[in-house]
Amino acid sequence: MPKKSAKPAAKKAAKKSPMAEGEGYCVKCKAKREMANVKKVKMANGRPALKGTCPVCGTGMFKILPPS
Ligand SMILES: [Zn+2]
Repeated sequence: MPKKSAKPAAKKAAKKSPMAEGEGYCVKCKAKREMANVKKVKMANGRPALKGTCPVCGTGMFKILPPS
């Protein structure tokens, strides 16, 4: 009998959308935003991070950068 080749019907459409540099999460707006006044800082443990403010509500935002 003919064997049906199992083709994966649902291809993983994992589009890699690189997070824009300077994009962070505002806990007040509960939304991802492009941070304003972005500054690259170093945390106490030496890891790089981005510091900025939410352009909408002005809340301080923080984003930990992946160690390179
Ligand atoms: Zn905000």
